Amino acid sequence: MMTSLRVPNRQGHFGPFGGKFVPETLMAALDELEQAFAKAKRDPGFRRELRGYLADYAGRPTPLYQAKRLGRALGGLRVYLKREDLLHTGAHKINNTIGQALLAVRMGKRRVIAETGAGQHGVATATVAALFGLACEVFMGEKDMRRQALNVVRMRLLGATVRPVSSGTKTLKDACNEAIRDWVTNVRTTHYCLGSVVGPHPYPMMVRDFQAVIGREARRQILKAEGRLPDYLVACVGGGSNAIGLFHPFVEDRQVRFIGVEAAGRGLRPGQHAATLAKGSVGVLHGTRSLILQDRHGQILDTRSIAAGLDYPGVGPEHAYYQQIGRARYAAVSDALALQGCALLAHTEGIIPALEPAHAIGYLIRHARRLPRRSVVILGLSGRGDKDVDVIARHV
Ligand SMILES: *Cc1c(COP(=O)(O)O)cnc(C)c1O
Repeated sequence: MMTSLRVPNRQGHFGPFGGKFVPETLMAALDELEQAFAKAKRDPGFRRELRGYLADYAGRPTPLYQAKRLGRALGGLRVYLKREDLLHTGAHKINNTIGQALLAVRMGKRRVIAETGAGQHGVATATVAALFGLACEVFMGEKDMRRQALNVVRMRLLGATVRPVSSGTKTLKDACNEAIRDWVTNVRTTHYCLGSVVGPHPYPMMVRDFQAVIGREARRQILKAEGRLPDYLVACVGGGSNAIGLFHPFVEDRQVRFIGVEAAGRGLRPGQHAATLAKGSVGVLHGTRSLILQDRHGQILDTRSIAAGLDYPGVGPEHAYYQQIGRARYAAVSDALALQGCALLAHTEGIIPALEPAHAIGYLIRHARRLPRRSVVILGLSGRGDKDVDVIARHV
C-alpha cells in the first residue's frame, strides 16, 4: 500500500481531505499560527511549560485502568479505560485548550474566542483564559444555551463572555460560523481556540498533536500492564479529537486496530443522527474539506444525538482519510445503545461516563462477541457523566 501515514503534508492535506478554505484575511493568521506552533514544538521551554500545566493543573498522566468486571460482562475481553474523565473540567478538552492558550500568550494575543456546542469546550477555554489572564468570548447557539444552561453559568463564573448565536439552527455549526466571523474582524489581537481536529490547517494537526498525549501515555501504560500492544483502540468521534489523540501514537503499529464510534442518534435517516463518516459526502465546512452531512444541494443537514459533544455535521479530515485508506473503521451507535453503555459501566465499575464515550461502550456491547476472546482493548473514556445526569434521568 502506497498510502502515507505521515499526514498532513505541508499544505495541511490528509490525502484528498483537509486544507485551508478561509477568507483571505485569515490566511496570514493561519500562517502565523502554524509557524508559532512549529517553533513551540521545537522549544524545550514550551514543552516543559506545557508538561507542567498538564501534570500539575490538569492532572496528567491519567490512569489506564483495567475494567475487569466490565470485561467479564463483555464476554471475556481485557478492557482498559483511558481515564480522561479524571482531568480538571472533566474531559480531554483541557489538553488542547492549555496548549492553545500557551501559544496565544507566546503570540502576544490577549484575547481568545471559542465556539461551543454543549459548552464543554467553552468551559475548557474559559478555564485556561482565567488561568493565563486572557479575555475570553465564547460563541454558543441560543438553543444550546437553553439546553446547557449550567455550562453557561460555569463560563460566566470563570469570567468569560458568552455570546448567544441566533442564526441558522442556533447550534454548534452556527457558533463556528460566528467565531470565524469574529476572528476575521479581530485577528490582530485574538486567537481562535478551536475545540476539535476540524477547521483549516493547522488546526486538525495542532489539536491532534496536543491530544496525542492521551495515546502516548496509553502506549507506555499498556506495554507496562500487558507487555504488548493492544489489539483494539475504541473511542467516540464527534469532531474526532479524543479519538485521534488516542489513535495517533499507534498509527504505524498496523496490528493495532482503530475503531471510531459515531452517533447514530435515533437511526440513520437524514436529520436523525450525526454519523458523518457513515453517511457524509465530500464537502467544505468551517474551512476544511472533509466528509459532511449535506443534502444534494450542499445544504448542511440537521444532526441529532443524545450526546451534545457528538452532535456536529462534520468530522476531522484525518478521520475521513483513515477511513478511506482503511487504517481505521468507524461504526455508528444509537442513543439507546449509548444509554445501555452508560448503565453498564456505571453498574460494573462504579464510573458514570459522559454520553459521548458511552457510545464506545455501546459499540462493545454490540460487537464484543465478534472480537477474539481475551483481546486487549483500550477504550477512550473521554469524559465524566456529571454533565449528563439530567438527560440520562429523562431517558431511564
Ligand atoms: C466534546 C467531547 C467529545 C467529542 O469531541 P471530539 O473532538 O470528537 O473528541 C467527546 N467526549 C467528550 C466527553 C466531550 O466533551
